[in-house]
Amino acid sequence: MAPGRTVWVLGDQLNRGIASLRDADPATTRVLMVTAEAKRASKRFHRQRLHLVAGAMSAFAAELRAEGFAVDERTAPTFAEGLAAHRRAHSPGAVSAMEPMSWDGRRMLERLGVDLVRSDQFLCHYEDFAAWADGRGDRRLRMEDFYREQRRRLGYLMDGDEPAGGRWNLDADNREPPPRDGRAWPRPVRSRDDDAAGDPPLPPRAFGAPPDGTWALTRRGALARLRAFVTQGLPRFGTHQDAMLDGEWHLAHSLLSPYMNLGMLHPREVADAVEAAYRAGDVPLASAEGFMRQVIGWREYVWGVYWREAPRLRRANGLGAERPLPPLFTGAGTAMRCVASALDGVEEHAYAHHIQRLMVLGNLALLTGVRPPEMVDWMWGAFIDGAEWVMLPNVVGMALHADGGRMMTKPYAAGGAYIDRMSDHCGRCRFDPRRRTGDDACPFTTLYWDFLARHEERFARNPRISRQVRGLGRLADLPAVRARAREVLAKLDAGDL
Ligand code: SF4
Repeated sequence: MAPGRTVWVLGDQLNRGIASLRDADPATTRVLMVTAEAKRASKRFHRQRLHLVAGAMSAFAAELRAEGFAVDERTAPTFAEGLAAHRRAHSPGAVSAMEPMSWDGRRMLERLGVDLVRSDQFLCHYEDFAAWADGRGDRRLRMEDFYREQRRRLGYLMDGDEPAGGRWNLDADNREPPPRDGRAWPRPVRSRDDDAAGDPPLPPRAFGAPPDGTWALTRRGALARLRAFVTQGLPRFGTHQDAMLDGEWHLAHSLLSPYMNLGMLHPREVADAVEAAYRAGDVPLASAEGFMRQVIGWREYVWGVYWREAPRLRRANGLGAERPLPPLFTGAGTAMRCVASALDGVEEHAYAHHIQRLMVLGNLALLTGVRPPEMVDWMWGAFIDGAEWVMLPNVVGMALHADGGRMMTKPYAAGGAYIDRMSDHCGRCRFDPRRRTGDDACPFTTLYWDFLARHEERFARNPRISRQVRGLGRLADLPAVRARAREVLAKLDAGDL
């Protein structure tokens, strides 16, 4: 019997177990996969990101064919044109898809008459998140509250009704500066199967180093990387998870986010693996808890916030930030060692870890007042795990504090002292993190005080940052700091810092 119905699998739903495919029978179901040229060209994407999505889609199509599915893989100018061509070629009785991961994708599929199946790609569906959020009245949507709810509901790292070890949050144990003992960090798994073969042509704005086998194109490869992380990376993850070291682009970070974000790994199997390693005594609680919080807490929280707030977040600019993206983000180079080191990781691997994203790149955009949509677009295109649902809350709500403080009670603004404490960059930098004026003043330190002065009125009543704001009154050299900030901003705009 020829397949009478079509399941459209999107490029970030690459798993046989997803709700739309789980019970599909190859005898009656055809699978459609569309690569839209307009989407690939829609922003300045890193070529490893483009390669990962294209390669993982064709690897998944091959897996489905091996199982007996007829798979219609096509490239079209747009998704709508891809679907129209599929309908002309195969006249399916119905086309269904699992709910997409974006607002625009959802609207598009509804408009095109595709039947949507409820997504099970997260542990907490966004409607369940909304019910949790609505049930809180006007209390803030604190990530920590949601995370504890997830722990209780899902049973991870729980001893009965209590958190394992008696504490919900071991963050305080996980903020150690980088070790200075020259230790070796786990080497990422690389596979020759995952190199550059078979890429579609790159759109003109694509940038970055070519693929080198770091990112797995198959679920098998993703599972191998999960096993490697749990045995080698996770035991060392916790204590130094916020640290940054020159020339070390990943330290003990998992590098698993692209696989969860493309559907190749389900967060449940990642959390199960972490739980099992902790229960076997193979990883300390601080590591297991720190990582679990990212997977079942922060990641799911961001997903829920995106579906509640996306239209508002797209417009939000609570601090009135109007600076265009400085040219250093698009290849101009910089003498700021911490920034250059993070951007090296982006160029070479389409990756920077969470503290580099938040406290170096995001912090720089916050202090200088980069327009939120430009920063969202840059991070979305530059990182291997980029997506709108990831970047809107993380960039607009967390890094840029542009949402009026709905997600975060204080801005994540920091001067050079924080970066000096958490990294070894400053010793190799031509700037001095302790200085706020003069040619060798650290731009972060200068801009931090300038940022507080610009927003003094707004933050003076914020109990989490008012003490720092009051510190402005003790800066006898504030006029000189602000003059230096103007110089720094002009150099930054000119791509000359
Ligand atoms: Fe970064 Fe300032 Fe340290 Fe240089 S001195 S590495 S710019 S924090």
